[in-house]
Amino acid sequence: MTDKTKALFEQGPIRPPSEATSLFIRLTRNCPWNRCLFCPVYKGERFSRREVAEIKADIDAMADIVDRVRAFSWRRGSGGQVTLEIASRLQREEPAWLPVVAWLYYGSGAVFLQDADSLAAPVDDLVEVLEYLRRRIPGIRRITTYARSRTLFRRSVAELRRLVEAGLNRVHVGLESGWDPLLEYMQKGVRSEQHVEAGLKAKEAGLELSEYVILGLGGRKMWREHALATARVLNRINPHFIRVRTLIIPPFSPLFEEVKRGSFVPLEEDRVLEEEKLLLTELKALDAVFCSDHHSNLLQELQGHLARDRERMIDLIDSYFNLPAEQKSLFRLGRRAGYFRSLDDLNNAALSVSVERLGRRLAEEGLSVDGYIQNLLPRYL
Ligand code: SF4
Repeated sequence: MTDKTKALFEQGPIRPPSEATSLFIRLTRNCPWNRCLFCPVYKGERFSRREVAEIKADIDAMADIVDRVRAFSWRRGSGGQVTLEIASRLQREEPAWLPVVAWLYYGSGAVFLQDADSLAAPVDDLVEVLEYLRRRIPGIRRITTYARSRTLFRRSVAELRRLVEAGLNRVHVGLESGWDPLLEYMQKGVRSEQHVEAGLKAKEAGLELSEYVILGLGGRKMWREHALATARVLNRINPHFIRVRTLIIPPFSPLFEEVKRGSFVPLEEDRVLEEEKLLLTELKALDAVFCSDHHSNLLQELQGHLARDRERMIDLIDSYFNLPAEQKSLFRLGRRAGYFRSLDDLNNAALSVSVERLGRRLAEEGLSVDGYIQNLLPRYL
């Protein structure tokens, strides 16, 4: 009897929030750098490149599942579409197909190449994989990947153009900060000037560019410089997307040790918003979309086009600051405990009552709101 839960292809551990409905193809394993103090994801794991033949075998396995799922849908009278009923049934009967079934169900047509730095693989290999992927799996509309600035910086525009021609559309880059002393402290392995050159090269080659910033990364010591220098770097790059996520320090990350030693003092949530406001204020009216699409962000509704919506986003931060202290605390608790999604939810009486009840329970147990939130945050990673 075959084991239906046995993986038919490899999948890496993470993807950006915007790739939640993408199909994941693992090109490399882990991170070739793996030294950033704030990053727990691949610690203890060794980087390795996968052979092209191995990646192609994964793509073949996925293409085969696509055909089988479509055939199953036709047999059930759904004309090749993956409805919720078909997806649920296949999830039970063929659990190892799930990533492909989910991809067909969501219909995003997007593919994300894993893991942390796919462009570290030889360009010829990448082109071969990209072309094979498009040939074997129909309906792909977008292919994206993570790329380190340092790796992009080392690639020529001509090399990056070859990838674009083979089908790569977008790179997600961990800029994290534009402040060199902070990049050095966090052991990011790249300088701000290299971030700028890497970003400009990617754009020149025709790639869409998504730059990630970590709010709170400067801690109490460098928060202001972090915001100002990051805005300066982003203003020079003018990427297509600026995506923020908030620093979370889980006990298994190297930065946690620095917190214990006292060399890094994290910013309180309100100060992180102050930092975010400064970043937004200093960003020019760029032709970029600002996204807060990570659960770690307190105000996830802070989204918009910088040229059009920057003032609205700053006003939204101010509307949080203008709340009375107990309402701020209620919002933070409700947001982190999963009751509230946005500031507007404070107007939802039923939700607010539930959060107030949680607050009373914490008080009875002698727990502070801040302590409770600190314990919850690592789950957002
Ligand atoms: S380069 Fe990216 S994946 Fe690698 S350690 Fe740094 S943050 Fe983590």
